[in-house]
Amino acid sequence: MADYDLAIIGGGLNGVSVARDAAGRGLRVILLEQGDLAAAASSASSRLIHGDLAVLERRAFLRVRAALAERDIWLRIAPHLVRPARFVIPEHSEERPSWLLRTGLLLYDRLASRSRLPASATVDLTHHPIGNALKRPFGTAFEYSDGVVDDSRLVVLNAVDAAERGAVIRTGARCVRADRLDIWRLATIDRGHRQVVTARALVNATGAWTASVAETVLRMPLPSLRAAQMSQIVVRRLFDTDNVYVFQNRDRRLIFASPYERDFTLIGTVGHAFKGDPAAVSMAASEVAYLCDAANRYFRERVEPSDVIRTVSGANMVINPAARDGAMAFDHRRGSAPLLTIFGGDVTTSRLRAEEAVSRLTPFYPMSPRWTAKTPLPGGDFASDKFDDEVERARARWRFLGESEARRLVAAYGTRLKAVLGDAGSRADLGPAFGAELTGAEVRYLMTCEWARFPDDILWRRSKLGLTMLAPDREALAQFMKASA
Ligand SMILES: Cc1cc2nc3c(=O)[nH]c(=O)nc-3n(C[C@H](O)[C@H](O)[C@H](O)COP(=O)(O)OP(=O)(O)OC[C@H]3O[C@@H](n4cnc5c(N)ncnc54)[C@H](O)[C@@H]3O)c2cc1C
Repeated sequence: MADYDLAIIGGGLNGVSVARDAAGRGLRVILLEQGDLAAAASSASSRLIHGDLAVLERRAFLRVRAALAERDIWLRIAPHLVRPARFVIPEHSEERPSWLLRTGLLLYDRLASRSRLPASATVDLTHHPIGNALKRPFGTAFEYSDGVVDDSRLVVLNAVDAAERGAVIRTGARCVRADRLDIWRLATIDRGHRQVVTARALVNATGAWTASVAETVLRMPLPSLRAAQMSQIVVRRLFDTDNVYVFQNRDRRLIFASPYERDFTLIGTVGHAFKGDPAAVSMAASEVAYLCDAANRYFRERVEPSDVIRTVSGANMVINPAARDGAMAFDHRRGSAPLLTIFGGDVTTSRLRAEEAVSRLTPFYPMSPRWTAKTPLPGGDFASDKFDDEVERARARWRFLGESEARRLVAAYGTRLKAVLGDAGSRADLGPAFGAELTGAEVRYLMTCEWARFPDDILWRRSKLGLTMLAPDREALAQFMKASA
């Protein structure tokens, strides 16, 4: 008898989504991640939860409709992590004509006809706050609804939910060999120790490592797969509203500029084919310049490459680099344990992809029906339009919380905030402070309940406090985590 029904290699969004789905359907699941959860492509997405206008332009209407339905599911099951936003496309005389944009957005509205989000609209920028940040010539813009997500927290909360449904989540556990018999026998290096686990089926969800894991760990090379990388830049906040700006660039690519962690703006995406070590994906200077130029066509405030505070890059396998489609392959030869390979695809459709992946295993196990579309992620058991009420409730209960701090905490933990802050009556009750916001209580919670082991796990994936934390506070955090491990 195997130790587990399903072993998953890879703790990115695809791996944890499969783990959540399968654990909730009653399978005994183990997930092995060589580093931290979301350490690779899954914390480098454009953070958009959308039907994707670029896909609409390629006339993939069914795909857009499916993604819009997923967008609305996310707003229901993860109202803390996924926030609705009004996206704004300024009309540009040298780009797509206004009739085309208007028709496209009407179609977008139709494809999202069951959504509760407001429909698209035309905005006079000369009399609207969203025009303030833009250069003068832009008189009109088109506004439509989509969503923005905290991508790395989405990964972590999928893993938390999977674990609460019985899945074993092991970070710092690299799978180095997988032998395929009538069950899988996996050798792992788990925090320096060699261990063996067995499972009835295996999922290879290793993103940009998919081909190398297939070749060297599974010894079952895949037909030639290509990798692509995507990159974004983070700059200081360029505008005061909560909108996401969508800029048409000269090469017809759509460039997004979205609010990022209160004081910053995320601008992206630019991508190209990728070769090399997926653990060391970096952005070329020409790509940084490209995104700065795109922003400078529209924003009043100039952005130079020297203003870039951080670049965010990730790589994944792709079938079609232009379409960024995800892929899934199921191998179930007679007498051999099944193997599922899953990679790429948008964040928006990750839940559905995992649901379809696990459903492929139904001939092999008795399992309960699909469930993830209706069950909130941890902390997400409130209505999307009640986010502000949750913030108010948090401030009433923990009176020492400032407005923006409460917003960050509710966005991260939702209704689970009480597990982080407990009965604290003052800031001093939360233990040592690392910078303005991070406290010992939060760090302990992240180490105990969310697999945080090192400062970067907290500063860049469980939060983005690394953007503002000073070196002495980082050092103090490192010491505190070492002592608490
Ligand atoms: C070019 C491109 C553009 C994209 N643009 C967007 C976008 O605009 N919007 C959007 O929503 N999404 C976008 N995405 C999708 C998104 O960023 C990711 O593809 C998605 O998060 C799924 O990631 P994953 O789980 O497949 O891979 P990853 O997040 O990379 O996870 C794979 C994990 O496997 C682990 N691993 C590897 N080998 C081993 C081993 N031997 N043992 C244990 N663990 C191992 C790695 O450490 C890693 O954490 C884009 C993807 C690509 C490729």
